[in-house]
Amino acid sequence: MNIASDQADLADLVVARPEGLYCPPGDFFIDPWRPVERAVITHAHSDHARFGHRHYLASRAGANVLLSRLPGISLQTLAYGERLALDGTTVSLHPAGHVLGSAQLRIEHRGRVWVASGDYKLDPDPTCDAFEPVRCDTFITESTFGLPIYRWDAPQTVFDGVDSWWRHNAAQGRASVLFCYSFGKAQRVLASVDAGIGPIFCHGAVEPLNRAYREAGVRLPPVRLVSEIPAKDKAVFRQALIVAPPSAQGSAWLKRFGDYSDAFASGWMRLRGARRRRGVDRGFVLSDHADWPSLQTAIHATGAERVIVTHGSVEPMVRWLREQGLEAGAFETQYGDDTVEADAAGADETATTGSVSAELEQTGEQNQSADSDVNPVNPASSA
Ligand SMILES: [Zn+2]
Ligand SMILES: [Zn+2]
Repeated sequence: MNIASDQADLADLVVARPEGLYCPPGDFFIDPWRPVERAVITHAHSDHARFGHRHYLASRAGANVLLSRLPGISLQTLAYGERLALDGTTVSLHPAGHVLGSAQLRIEHRGRVWVASGDYKLDPDPTCDAFEPVRCDTFITESTFGLPIYRWDAPQTVFDGVDSWWRHNAAQGRASVLFCYSFGKAQRVLASVDAGIGPIFCHGAVEPLNRAYREAGVRLPPVRLVSEIPAKDKAVFRQALIVAPPSAQGSAWLKRFGDYSDAFASGWMRLRGARRRRGVDRGFVLSDHADWPSLQTAIHATGAERVIVTHGSVEPMVRWLREQGLEAGAFETQYGDDTVEADAAGADETATTGSVSAELEQTGEQNQSADSDVNPVNPASSA
């Protein structure tokens, strides 16, 4: 047996390169942050799906959303579970349960299997396919909420809370303004609240995503655009739920609602400091990322003996994995979390901030909120 092919058999199926995570035997990148020849995209959030690559491969379920965000790209799609040969590898995409079209990438090469998760969650979500555990030797995982303090209530409990907040406001003749990320979270909220309570409106940054979801066959209740209503006409909003991106907070856009109550829906609302700094009446703890127990469940379900952590609370997760007797390490990546999305949406509407500076601002704020409340390991410094 020759030594070179022996080494090829043992070499890692995914390595970190300056452009992004790279699969040498398949000659492709996964969610690269610099322009490359061939990119496999796990989902259409802006920190994972960027302009500038020559060829894109992504899930068919997410094609509408991806093309609405990156129009004109050269895109090949795969149905979930469909297999494709890429150079020496066989790849397939499997539901990640994060947002519409989100996928884990399974890579098979000479009998070995690696899975790159992208972002994922295990909680039920009517707007996307449920997370599918995929057996593998090595699992590449996110760890956005990889600390024991992050435990989510059942989604139905959270939406019951949103409904009763909205119902109470409507009874008082007060608009209910709910801030949440425009891609994924907003559609999950729309699909899950009780649309019988009153009319639903959305901000202009949310509507293109609603359209892409509807075109992909996701059922959403009727939603009107706030901008269709003349600015002086406040009365129509008194019973309404208004879904807006976080960037709309504190803007003149809110004046048209007259008296309103506001709330923010995010996993970060688990931190009291984050809620306080947001200055909203209510914080709903709702995330499209796995909480700490779900991360453990998902990792365990893969059967992987080796786990590589990409972003979020990297050090605590690596430590925990090693305590479980697993081989664990980290990749340095440029993935953020869904707050980046908030500012991408804001940039669409206001065209004032560049997404890079917005991303840095947001990251700084999360670290601050984490430090001030519970003093966990700083997520940014642990990458
Ligand atoms: Zn994401
Ligand atoms: Zn992400």
